Amino acid sequence: MRSTDQTKEQIIFLKPIFRQMVWGGDRLGREWNYEIPGSDTGECWGVSAHPNGDCQVREGMYEGELLSELWIKHPDLFGNTGLDRFPLLVKIIDAKADLSIQVHPDDAYAKAHENGSLGKTECWYVLACDEDARLVIGHNAKDKAELTAMIEEGRWTELIREIPVKKGDFIRIDPGTVHAIKGGIMVMETQQSSDITYRVYDYDRMVDGRPRELHIDKSIDVITAPAGRVEESILKADELPQNTMNLLCSCECFRVWKTDVTQEVTFDQAYPFLIMSVIEGEGTVNGRSVRKGDHFILPDGYGEVILRGKMQLIASTV
Ligand code: ZN
Repeated sequence: MRSTDQTKEQIIFLKPIFRQMVWGGDRLGREWNYEIPGSDTGECWGVSAHPNGDCQVREGMYEGELLSELWIKHPDLFGNTGLDRFPLLVKIIDAKADLSIQVHPDDAYAKAHENGSLGKTECWYVLACDEDARLVIGHNAKDKAELTAMIEEGRWTELIREIPVKKGDFIRIDPGTVHAIKGGIMVMETQQSSDITYRVYDYDRMVDGRPRELHIDKSIDVITAPAGRVEESILKADELPQNTMNLLCSCECFRVWKTDVTQEVTFDQAYPFLIMSVIEGEGTVNGRSVRKGDHFILPDGYGEVILRGKMQLIASTV
């Protein structure tokens, strides 16, 4: 028998939730071994307590509980942050076709206009992409007046700023940034727990015979003009030092790391909680087997973490 507090030693494994999308594909099944609901599966919500997709604990003493319930009943597991909801959402996106051109509000705008929802800052780690893959980040309008005119006149090719991307690129998308993931790209997204998206343009696509709703006025309200420089939001994170936790991003919403384990990584879980997702390979966390596609949370007070094997992980906390 151990005298230490058992709850602090539990790794909280979560069951992912899948969402079918007009632009989704089947790679989450083929390449990630998930049981997907169809060949148009666009998103795997690996760690989420959002009402639109609340993950269940997969095993252990909290098996079957929703992450949102665990957050309320056991705030001690998450460092007693005092936050009113589980703050982050981690998903894998398989874009077989282009996603709509979109923008997210910040916290203040979402609170006022979206029933108290959080705004959305997000970031992407590019897991895989075609040779000539491109993303939309930002726009070419010099100010709000030009932005409004370009949107109202449908001058999309002039407006939209596209950039080439490679596997391992890490991109931060602040609220107010026009963006779109284009076909042939898979990303792991770490974001605020929010589902508020304003669609600016959807390539005039029809879904069940009609176009998806656009949110032009709200988009114009929240889009930052002029856009920030692209170089400021992209980091090459493919070949970082191995066997260490590489910090990719630290902002007021989250901190995100990548680690490439080839032997062993040891660190102290010194955060309120630490989300980890295995994005490649397999190995162990303190002796417990994990593999590509596993998503888990190391609770507050977990202590020393020892990762072994051949695997890559993305980690995050607030
Ligand atoms: Zn987005």
